[in-house]
Amino acid sequence: MANSTKSMIFSPSTETSLKAAAEFINTTYREPDVLDIGDAALEMIARSWHVAEFDPCDLSELRRLREVRAYLDGLWRSDEQTLVTRTNQILSETTLRLQLVRRGSDTYELCARSSDQSLASQIVVAGTLAVVEAIQTGQTWRFQACLSDTCRNVFVDLSRNHSRRFCDHGCGNRVHVAAYRKRQRPPTPTGGLPDT
Ligand SMILES: [Zn+2]
Repeated sequence: MANSTKSMIFSPSTETSLKAAAEFINTTYREPDVLDIGDAALEMIARSWHVAEFDPCDLSELRRLREVRAYLDGLWRSDEQTLVTRTNQILSETTLRLQLVRRGSDTYELCARSSDQSLASQIVVAGTLAVVEAIQTGQTWRFQACLSDTCRNVFVDLSRNHSRRFCDHGCGNRVHVAAYRKRQRPPTPTGGLPDT
C-alpha cells in the first residue's frame, strides 16, 4: 500500500532477484551445501527468487544449478564490460517469454519468464533481467563483495550513499569488535631501550 510512494533504487522484481542472487551465490561458501540438502532447500531458493513452480530437480538439474551459481558468482565480481558481454551472450542464447505483470493497484512491470519450468532456467532469466536493469541504470557498482578478509560472501548494496562494506552474515560486527578490542589494548612496552 504505502510502499508505492517509496522511491526505489531498482524495480521490485530486480531488487528481489539481486538479493536472491547474492544469497544463492553465498551458499557456495557455507557447509553443508544447500544444493546437497534436498527439496526443502530448493524450495527455499525458489521462494527467494519468487519462483512459484519448478520441475523436479534430478541430478543433471542440480549440476546445472551449481553451474548457474558459479556463473552468477563470476558475474557479480566482474567489471561492467564483462557483465555486458556475458549478459548479451545469455540473451542471445535464451528464449524469453515477456509478460506485463500487475504490481500494486495501478502499476505494471515487464517481466520475463523462461521457456521451460526448470529452476535453473528461471534463475538465469530472472538474474539476467536484473543485471540488465543494473547496467541500464548505471548501478552495477551495487554488486559488492564483503570486505572482511575471511569472507567470500557478496551482497547488493542498496544504500543511497554507497556505504555498505560487509555482507549480511555478521562480518561488519566482527570487524568492528576486533578494531574496538585493538584500540582498547594497552600499548605494548617497548622494553629494549636503556634509559639515558
Ligand atoms: Zn562477510
